[in-house]
Amino acid sequence: MTRPLSPAAPFRDPAIASPAMAQYLELKAEHPHALLFYRMGDFYEMFFEDAVAASAALDIALTKRGKHGEEDIAMCGVPVVQAERYLLELTRKGFVVAVCEQMEDPAEAKKRGAKSVVRREVVRVVTPGTITEDALLEARASNHLAAYAETGAGAALAWMDISAGAPLARPTRRQRLGADLARIAPREILIPERLLDDAALMELLTETGARVAPLGPASFEPGSAERRLKELYGVTTLEGFGAFAQPEISALGALADYLAITQKGRAPVLAPPRREAENAAMRLDAATRRNLEILTNLSGQRAGGLLDAVDRSRTGAGGRLLAERLAAPLTDPEAISARLDAVSAFVENDALRGEIRNYLGAAPDMARALARLSLERGGPRDLAALRDGLEAAAVLADALSFSDPPAEIARARAALTDHEALAELLKGALGPDLPLAARDGGFVAAHWRPELDQLRRLAEDARGVMRDLEGKLKAETGVSSLKIKYNGVLGYHVEVTSAHAERFLKPPLAERFIHRQTTANASRFTTTELADLDSKISRAGAEAVAMELAIFAELSAAVLAEAPRISAAAAALAEIDVASGLAELARAEGWTRPLVEDSDAFEIEAGRHPVVDQALRRENVPFVANSCDLSADRLWLVLGPNMAGKSTFLRQNALIALLAQAGSYVPAASARIGAVDQLFSRIGAADDLARGRSTFMVEMVETAAILNQAGPKALVILDEIGRGTATFDGLSIAWATVEHLHAVNRCRALFATHYHELAALAKKLEGAKTVSLKVSEWKGDLVFLHEVAEGAKGRSYGVQVARKAGLPAAALSRAEEVLAALEKGDGEGAKRRLKALAEDLPLFVAAETARPRTSAVEEALKALDVDALSPREALDQLYLLKSLLN
Ligand code: ATP
Repeated sequence: MTRPLSPAAPFRDPAIASPAMAQYLELKAEHPHALLFYRMGDFYEMFFEDAVAASAALDIALTKRGKHGEEDIAMCGVPVVQAERYLLELTRKGFVVAVCEQMEDPAEAKKRGAKSVVRREVVRVVTPGTITEDALLEARASNHLAAYAETGAGAALAWMDISAGAPLARPTRRQRLGADLARIAPREILIPERLLDDAALMELLTETGARVAPLGPASFEPGSAERRLKELYGVTTLEGFGAFAQPEISALGALADYLAITQKGRAPVLAPPRREAENAAMRLDAATRRNLEILTNLSGQRAGGLLDAVDRSRTGAGGRLLAERLAAPLTDPEAISARLDAVSAFVENDALRGEIRNYLGAAPDMARALARLSLERGGPRDLAALRDGLEAAAVLADALSFSDPPAEIARARAALTDHEALAELLKGALGPDLPLAARDGGFVAAHWRPELDQLRRLAEDARGVMRDLEGKLKAETGVSSLKIKYNGVLGYHVEVTSAHAERFLKPPLAERFIHRQTTANASRFTTTELADLDSKISRAGAEAVAMELAIFAELSAAVLAEAPRISAAAAALAEIDVASGLAELARAEGWTRPLVEDSDAFEIEAGRHPVVDQALRRENVPFVANSCDLSADRLWLVLGPNMAGKSTFLRQNALIALLAQAGSYVPAASARIGAVDQLFSRIGAADDLARGRSTFMVEMVETAAILNQAGPKALVILDEIGRGTATFDGLSIAWATVEHLHAVNRCRALFATHYHELAALAKKLEGAKTVSLKVSEWKGDLVFLHEVAEGAKGRSYGVQVARKAGLPAAALSRAEEVLAALEKGDGEGAKRRLKALAEDLPLFVAAETARPRTSAVEEALKALDVDALSPREALDQLYLLKSLLN
């Protein structure tokens, strides 16, 4: 299940510990499941079991720090300035870290007595689902925290990205929980702790790869959950946000509680929760997602997946939104059409699109900056991100002045306007050099606050300030040799030569100049003004930083007062980015606008596979476009040899439906699609050894899921089902599956198979048809045309494909012999022949078989096309044959 949280620790008695260790033990007892980062000066230290686990996980030195009773105290530490790097490593490895800070100056603590300990508090618990630091997050991937609730009234999921604002909730059921979680891909899932004993649920949750965090019953209890939510949003009823069912409230409440626990009372900017209807999004289970390589390829990398091929967004937030849309395509034709309207508006206006994309390039990640500021983890660079983001928003809003804008653009435009005041404030206040942390100072612009200028001048330019004062005193006293000097004993002081000293010791000058010291050739004085300046200079550095911190707090407050509007602007930027990015893609790739409607249609004309098409183009190989029409014949049997392009054809149709419903143009000459509510994709050869299932078992489990679940609006693509077992078994299962899909599920389906026998079945079934991928033979070689044609054509050409793959000639010729024997008779006849063959020459046993049945010379002769040879080539061939003899 979940990673070792913090290793279990035995009870250690604070009473026998040193004061600091006693404090450590108390804090640790409050966070038994977390590694405790205990701040000591410039380091976060870890002790006991935590130190052992962290030093191993981080590969850092493990040392000792005194004893607790008889026990050595194991210790390791990380420097505070590098803490982010270590946190990243620990959260990646599944640890949860409680960060404990010093809450007062050690000097303050000293005042309470020599032995008193600096006050410390855990200010935050870092968990995979609640991180906000850029260094810990991927710019183009959401970081979801989910909660699963089960009450008497049913089950629900709620989830949110702490940096993106709006929690979502939806009903779910055990049966579809896997699919729902696959879509959300949470980093962390909260569950009621009583469900820890539910083995089936735990297996399902473990498969998501997320950290599972059990919470006590109070976190999920619907009554207190509702109260918590009302408090969080400052409302008296949640009804204004939507009609949430009890389990949804329970799950949302658990999210809110977990935020309070981990953020120690700081609340991120949260937009009101939204409810997603059960069938608002296309259902795709985890296997289908993997199979179609939607967000990543089969090995989990972004390159080679659909998202990477279609993502032209310019901002991280745009990339995240596109990923979410591809992960959850819509089912409502109207909502899909609204998204497509926005894309179309940008497709039709190249100049505008170029301009918009240019501006987007300058827009930083406002949502994440805002989240950090709201959780008091922000810095000057986050303020700058908002300054630049809001400026980009204003420019974009201006550029987006369509006469009759599509609704999505109009909405976005409204959210992007009216941020000038805040943008101006930040622009004026922030200087050019921005440190990461506000406490480092130096980020407030010059002239923003005169008092700060003065403090800085004092701190940085003491000499200049003194020179000014010196000039003033010279003028006033008429003593041009007067100097202001500094030494360790007197600090700053006025020095005059003995010749002038007399005047300074008498009124009126003596009223201002206080005598401090007389040496052999000079007298030294101070003045109230000089003494003031002296102490100001020594305090100025610290005061300047304090004043900057106060200004930072003011600016943060100004930002947070506008938080919901900034959130909306950030979301609008992402939407415009996605729409204009998809438009850019459509133009560059020649894609067309699909029509998604409420019908059973599925007409794709000249469709292409979005990823394979691009990959082949990079190698200058043309992709052969193929049409698919499942409107009348709802089930297509797709035949063809290996490598002919069956899988590509199947997947391209699934991906076209997915892209269309996500709101994108599609790689086809035209596409009319009756909204698909469930998409299933299976390939018959994926081993899942990690889960201890054989190829065939996986295939059957997944096929069972489809036959049990696919409804009339589903689109099913099945690739080589039945391949994982013996021929007759496999054929029978494939046969039964086709019949079941056709008669019971009645969904649109593409079924690729090797079994030519199935063509006979398809002929009998009304509403089913057979197509084949064309191949031709040329000079004994197989040529794949990648063209889908009606009817069952040709045979399987397995041996030819094997030849292309470079199987040894001996094995190939033996395979041809066996194949000939099999093809000649019916089942019984074939068996007899096989037996004879086996007795005749047992394969691979007799060393004899290793020799080719036909010689290389014979092979070469067979392949010769004498008529096609020029005299010169004929001579070459003769030399070749001669050499083969050796
Ligand atoms: P197998 O049964 O071995 O999985 P298959 O029939 O499913 O084979 P694919 O994997 O779809 O074949 O395609 C094999 C290769 O053929 C692809 O990697 C691609 O390079 C090329 N190909 C497939 N379809 C097309 C097409 N329409 N146009 C051009 N090339 C294609």
